[in-house]
Amino acid sequence: MTILGIDLGTTNSACAIWRDGKAELIPNRLGEWLTPSAVFLDADDKLIVGQTARERSVTDPTHTTSVFKRYMGTDRKIKLGKKTFTATELSAMVLKSLKDDAEQYLGETITQAVISVPAYFNDTQRKATVLAGELADLKVERLINEPTAAAMTYGLHEKPEHTQFMVIDLGGGTFDVSIMEYFDGVLEVHASSGDNFLGGEDFLEIIVNKYLATFNLTKSHLDGKDLQKVYSKLEQLKRLLNTQETVNLEPFIEQQKENFSLTRNEFEALAKPLLTRIQSPIETTLRDAEIKPWDLDEVVLVGGATRMRFFRGMIAKMFRRMPSANLDPDLVITMGAAIQAGLKAKDKMLDDVVLTDVCPYSLGTSTVNESDATGDQGGLFSAIIERNTIIPASRTERYFTVSDNQKQLQIDIYQGESRLVSNNIKLGEITVKIPKNKKYEESVDVRFSYDMNGLLEVDITVVSTGEKHYKMIENAPGELSEKDIQASKDKLAKMKFHPRELAVNQNLVSRADRIFESRLSDEREAIKDSLRWFEGVLDSQDDRQIKDAQQEFAVFLDKFEQDGFF
Ligand code: AMP
Repeated sequence: MTILGIDLGTTNSACAIWRDGKAELIPNRLGEWLTPSAVFLDADDKLIVGQTARERSVTDPTHTTSVFKRYMGTDRKIKLGKKTFTATELSAMVLKSLKDDAEQYLGETITQAVISVPAYFNDTQRKATVLAGELADLKVERLINEPTAAAMTYGLHEKPEHTQFMVIDLGGGTFDVSIMEYFDGVLEVHASSGDNFLGGEDFLEIIVNKYLATFNLTKSHLDGKDLQKVYSKLEQLKRLLNTQETVNLEPFIEQQKENFSLTRNEFEALAKPLLTRIQSPIETTLRDAEIKPWDLDEVVLVGGATRMRFFRGMIAKMFRRMPSANLDPDLVITMGAAIQAGLKAKDKMLDDVVLTDVCPYSLGTSTVNESDATGDQGGLFSAIIERNTIIPASRTERYFTVSDNQKQLQIDIYQGESRLVSNNIKLGEITVKIPKNKKYEESVDVRFSYDMNGLLEVDITVVSTGEKHYKMIENAPGELSEKDIQASKDKLAKMKFHPRELAVNQNLVSRADRIFESRLSDEREAIKDSLRWFEGVLDSQDDRQIKDAQQEFAVFLDKFEQDGFF
């Protein structure tokens, strides 16, 4: 029975199996390893997953959705045309697409999977991932932490005991750092940190801003199509800067009056604030795990954006060694999931200690911000249980009144890492009455107890009277009932997937549409003619002719762009 190893990523997903002693990547219906985690609902209510959906995000954004992994395990409704879906349901669609591709490639039915999840995913997010598998008719045999998967691909589970290493994952929009140790057959995540809003796209944004400033433009000066073109061209430029010292772009929109050139050094200087932001979670994890950079045996790079030359340079400088990056950073997690699937088949699974054993974020309350004269900033966050504390955990802090004759004290309960509570997530509040007294004379003890199930219990004791208050906070707003799960199953069973055999044609037409919209006059005419010809061949329903035309049309479209972005 083949078990599919799956990387269900924020921007891209991929799958692989363990065969003949190695991880074997599975091409999707378009012959590519990576399937964009994007979903499109076409005019006939048929679902299309992957590259075609990503193409459509430019021409038809209301019928397309992506980056939904951010909302996994929440009950947030994501709109797609007239319908709404949860992140779990959308993820199920991506999984189903991968499963179909694997079945086609392998010629057998696949019913089991190992799926990777970020190390910081909490219990609810993990359950949502298992449910997404179930909705796609895949029994999730195992979830594997993404850094564990990456580490296994680099063979770190075959290293001597006590090997310690860091996995640095910089994707399109997320940044994750984990410190792991291999000991007694277990890969343990010691600490993890990151930034959910930092990735390769931010580096692109910097180049886009530089470009606009050079020609005295703002985004509002450009129409949607031109702006899209700017992003697409500058993404190519960003990638070229890995191999070239300077990249020079001739005008490609009307408002660009002369050539635009950027050197790698200029790019690095502009990216300095982002590089500083990258350093901070790396330092946090080192501090949390109480490890010095030079004690690490290896540093592994994951995610497309780690291909940036100066990013690698910065890491090498920080750790005084070259990071391990000889494998494709977009595929190391997928391959690790397949290795775990292989071990599972042999009943020799490697254990990885999930990070739900530690609290993935800080929990605390709000205190008066005395330095905030204007009152704009709001309260300061005071952590009671700190991030990466081993759970179950129970901690107490004492808080005092701040004004004379204060009658009550409000304890707000927050989750997050920001100094200001306004940037953190509020989970609840308790107000307790206290005897009138001089300021600082009255106080309460606030005890937070956090357990494996994501339950936070808050006990408050008024110190002078001994009066007690209690509140339980279920930190699991996205948890689904059996009824909800059945409803999701019924809903997805009714959705129609676009026929797989038509995927290549559909993708070529979408791509042509998108390129058409970004070009003018002669180029548009050429695309229109070619598209008409291609659709004519499709009408013929002659398989041989269609196959030949697909190739020819793809070559034609390639001429319009060098690097298939979007
Ligand atoms: P991922 O989510 O891991 O696929 O990462 C996608 C991100 O990696 C995007 O922001 C890309 O711009 C970036 N990326 C991919 N390839 C390269 C490259 N060769 N050079 C620089 N950035 C890249």
